[in-house]
Formats: sequence, structure tokens, C-alpha cells
Amino acid sequence: MSEQTPLDLAEGDPFGPHNLPYGVFTPAGSAERRVGVRLGSSVLDAGAAAAVLGSPYASLLAQPSLGPLLAAGRTAWRDVRRALTAWVTVPAHRESLADLFFPLSTVTLHLPFEVADYVDFYSSEHHARHLGSIFRPDGEPLTPNWKHLPIGYHGRAGTVVVSGTDVTRPSGQRRAPDAGDAAPLFGPSTRLDIETEVAFVVGVPSALGTPVPLSAFRDHVFGLCLLNDWSARDIQGWENVPLGPFLGKSFATSLSAWVTPLEALDAARVAPPERDTPLLPYLDDGGEGLADEPGGYDLRISVEINGQVVAEPPFAAMYWTAAQQLAHMTVGGASLRTGDLYASGTVSGPEPRQYGSLIELTWNGREPLSLPGGSRTFLEDGDEVVLGGWAPGPDGTRVGLGEVRGRIVAAGDFGA
Ligand code: CA
Repeated sequence: MSEQTPLDLAEGDPFGPHNLPYGVFTPAGSAERRVGVRLGSSVLDAGAAAAVLGSPYASLLAQPSLGPLLAAGRTAWRDVRRALTAWVTVPAHRESLADLFFPLSTVTLHLPFEVADYVDFYSSEHHARHLGSIFRPDGEPLTPNWKHLPIGYHGRAGTVVVSGTDVTRPSGQRRAPDAGDAAPLFGPSTRLDIETEVAFVVGVPSALGTPVPLSAFRDHVFGLCLLNDWSARDIQGWENVPLGPFLGKSFATSLSAWVTPLEALDAARVAPPERDTPLLPYLDDGGEGLADEPGGYDLRISVEINGQVVAEPPFAAMYWTAAQQLAHMTVGGASLRTGDLYASGTVSGPEPRQYGSLIELTWNGREPLSLPGGSRTFLEDGDEVVLGGWAPGPDGTRVGLGEVRGRIVAAGDFGA
């Protein structure tokens, strides 16, 4: 019997050769960042592998960031993935690459690319209805624009952090809705929340003034990641009228260390839910020729707080697709840059166990969650949140999504 190697995976490993997500890592004892490809519980130094095997893709892979690969475009993405698949599946390569696999537990993972612009949408009808019901109980839960365009805002790219980074509780101004004309208070947020989201990674730029149509989604978007859009509900509630989210969101946004290429998710593509409102042509994905690019993805997400799964939001239930979000984001002529990141908005399903935020899971704090360390309405210092997930892969396999982990640490003392 031959020696066990990182290429010998357990049956059904969701990070098998059918997955191969990309990240950036530093091996123990080194300061050098390298592009890595995850296989099972190991990471392959992709640039070094390319060099050893004399691959023409060494220049794209022997890099400290995914940036050059992202910018290279769809043909290169396909060819590099084919090469990597061969490297980890063809027995002849095993011996030459054996020293280039590192156990995940021994490496440091970094933000895999420089985030250019960051946009956050609001594309789950269930989530939007839940929040509408909480904040406008006597009105229509959806705003009049909701079914005509994917609502979004521009966020703060510089505070997107890699999974595993501690999140400091933000301080800021807040005033309770029932506080009348009282002066606002300043202090650490007392209503710190999560938003379970899926973020799409733009590889290929677009020209200023040229909208990106639905049909060009796959030419620009390289892959996706899980994302946690930490949200301070009390800061958000006081500041957000009339211009929308600002400091209640900008203190930190956690991103998975692993980018799953869209090519790994072909078996997970699904049609979006039936739309009951006619769409303008630039958003109408029911048209001829778009059937091959439905834009929906069947991602099964889990939300864990302090070791207990509290929700399993279904991404397939999202009303607006990533292709529609991209088309809307560029329809006015805004250009894309390599490294642009746009997130779906909180993923929630119709059932209580499918809610992707604490404000929904506890119905604005009225119904605390029972957890091993005590009940919760919003997050306490020391709480750890882990988002995970998988998608159906080829031949009954599962495609694992890289986790997003973050722990809340106490607010700094900024005075008042
Ligand atoms: Ca959000």
C-alpha cells in the first residue's frame, strides 16, 4: 500500500478535484504570499507547481494576489483550471508536486485579492419583507421600487477583512426610535448583528460609459465567496435616513479566504424564482438566448454562532441574480475594475430556520435565541460566528464553500 498523500482524499470530500477554490497563503516560517489552490485539507502552491511542471500559467499563478489571474479573463480561467485539475488528478504529477502541498492548519490565509469597489445589494425578497414587516408593520413591507431594480449601496472596500480576523465592536451615535427628541447617545453598539451573504468577484474590467449586459456576466465575474456584512443596527437605525447605510456597516465586512470559481458551480445553476412584475429589458433574464445563463445558484448556507447552527439560508431563493445585479450596477455607465466585489444582501428563506440575520432570527430582539452559552438577541463580546456552505457538484458531489469566521472583541475606548 502506498503512502498517504494530500491527493488521497476521503470519499465525498467537498474540496476534491471538482472544486479547487483559489486563495492566497503564507507557509509557516515564510513571509511570502503565494496563490494557493485548496485540495481537501491542503493547499497547493500553484505558482511553484506551474514552475515545476513548466506550465505557461506560471506568470499568472506565481503572484502574491489573485489579481493577475482575475484580470486574465474567461479563456485563461478555463485553461488554468483544466491544468490544475490535471495536476491534482494525474498520477504522474504526484511525485513532482508532493512537496508543494501544505496542510491548511500550518499556513496563514490572506485576503485573496485587493478589493477594488465594494457594493452591497438587498436581493432576498424574504429578507426585505421581514425587515419591512419589523420596521413598517402597518405598511407594505416592500418599497415601491423593490421589484423593479436590485436595491444596493456602495460600501467600504478598505474594511473588507479575511475570514478569521477579529471584529471590534463599533462605537457610534445611536438614538432609540421611541426616544422622541432626546439627544443621541454615543457608545459601543448594543445591537451588533450579522448578515449572511454571497459575494461575487469581478475579474475583467469594463469601459466607462459601457453597460455590461446580462449575457456578459460570465465574461466578467470570476467566482464567489461567502461574506458576513456585520451590521450595528442601532447606529444604522439613527443614521440611515435619508442616504442609507454608512457607519453602521463600514467598520468590518468579513470575506472567505477561498474564491470558488463559477466553473466549479455549473451543476448548482438554477433558475431564479418566478417574477411577478415585468422587468425593463436590461434586467429581463427571461428573454431568448439567456436560458444558458440563468444566474441563480443553489448554495446551501449554514450560520453557526458559538458552535451551534442557528440558520440554513437558501441562496436559490434570491429574487435578483448576480447577473442582474451586475447589469444594474453598470447600466448608468459605471465601469468595473478587477477586484470589484458585490454582495447579494442578506440571504433569507421563508422559514424561521432560514433567516440570515439576528434581527430576523430574534424578530428585532423580541424572541431571543437559545445558545449553549446563554440566550442572545444580538452579538456579545467573545461570540464567534461561522458561515459555511456547499453547492451541488457534478455526479452527486458537493462543492464546499470556504468558511467565513469572525469573533467579536470589545469596543475600544474612544470616549464620547
Ligand atoms: Ca448587507
